[in-house]
Amino acid sequence: MKFADNPQQATEYLRQAIPLMVKSSTPPTPLNYALWYAYVSGAIPALNQQMDKMLEIYGCCPNRISELLFRDFLIKDEADNAATFQQALLSVMGDLESSASSTVQDTEAYNEVLQESLAALKDRNDDEGLETIIQNLTINTETISESTRQFQKKIDEAQAEISKLKKELHESRQEATVDPLTGLYNRRVFDTEISQLAALPHPDVSLIMVDIDFFKKFNDTYGHQMGDKVLQYVARLIKEECSEPLLPVRFGGEEFSMLLPGIKEPDACKLAEKVRKKVAAIRIKQKKSGEIISSVTASFGVARLAADETPENLIARADAALYRAKEAGRNNVQLAN
Ligand code: GH3
Ligand code: MG
Ligand code: MG
Repeated sequence: MKFADNPQQATEYLRQAIPLMVKSSTPPTPLNYALWYAYVSGAIPALNQQMDKMLEIYGCCPNRISELLFRDFLIKDEADNAATFQQALLSVMGDLESSASSTVQDTEAYNEVLQESLAALKDRNDDEGLETIIQNLTINTETISESTRQFQKKIDEAQAEISKLKKELHESRQEATVDPLTGLYNRRVFDTEISQLAALPHPDVSLIMVDIDFFKKFNDTYGHQMGDKVLQYVARLIKEECSEPLLPVRFGGEEFSMLLPGIKEPDACKLAEKVRKKVAAIRIKQKKSGEIISSVTASFGVARLAADETPENLIARADAALYRAKEAGRNNVQLAN
C-alpha cells in the first residue's frame, strides 16, 4: 500500500483521524496512525469494513487486531515481497548447489580423461616434457575438484542455516503470544487486551476464570504427561467456544480464562456452563484395555466489568466467584457479586 496524497489532503486526513483515534481510546502509535489514516482516506474499503466491525464490537480496535490489519492491508505487498525474496534466494541457492555439484562431476570426469591420457602417453613412451605438463594439469584439476567440493559443502551449510532461521523466526513470533503447551493465548496477550478493553469510554466485557478440579491429585495418580494431555484437551474445548473476538487464554498452570468483549453476564454464564458440561464429559481411557479410568471436571467464576472498575479488580472478583464454585463442591459455575 502506497499513500500518494498531496500535503493538503494528508493534513485533512490527519484532522479527521486524530479525533477518531482519541474517541476510540486508540494509542497514538505509528502503526495505529497508519491504520486510521487509511481508514479516513477510505482507500481500502475492506479495511474500513473490518475496522467498523471491531468498533461495533469493542468500541475500539484492539492492539492484537490492529497489528493483524496493519500486516494484512498496509504492508501486505512488502511482506509478500519479503517472502518472495526469500523464496528467490532459496531457489538461487538451489541452482548454485546443482551447478556446483555438476561442476564437481565435470571436473572429475576431466580428471579421469587426463589420467587416461597420461597412461596412454606412458605406454607409448612419448615425449617426457609433454608427460610433465599433463601431470601438472592433473594436480591442478584435483585441486579444482577439491575446492568445488568445499564450495558445495558451504552452500549446503548455508541452506541448512536459512531453513533454521526461517523456523526460528516463525517460532519466536508464536512464542510472543501463544502458550506452547495448549496453543491458547498467553498471559501477556490477556493483560494487554483486558487493559485496553477496560480503558474504553464505555467498557463492555465479561470474564470467565476456569480452574481444573483436584488436578494435583490427577497428576499424582496418572502422571504429569497424562496431566498435560488433559490440559491440551480442555484448552481445545475452550478454544472451540471462543471465535473472534472472544479470547481463550491459558492463565497459568491448570487455570484458563475466557475474555469476552460485548458479552453480558447471562450469556457469559451460559458459555461457562457449556464448557463445564463439555469438560465433565471427558473420559480418560486406559490405552490398552480401553477401560474408562477417570473423568475430569472444572470450576468456573464469571464476572462482568463494572463502570470504573480496574482489570485487577475484575480478575479478583472472577477469582472470588471461582473460589465459591470450589467451595460449593466444584464442577459448577458461580457469578461474581
Ligand atoms: P482444586 O480443585 O482446589 O483446584 O485443586 P487442584 O489440585 O487442582 O489445585 P492445586 O492448585 O493444589 O494444584 C494445581 C496442580 O496443577 C498442581 C500442578 O502440578 C498442576 N499443574 C500446573 N501446571 C501444570 C502443567 O503444565 N502440567 C501438568 N501436568 N500439571 C500442571
Ligand atoms: Mg489452580
Ligand atoms: Mg485446580
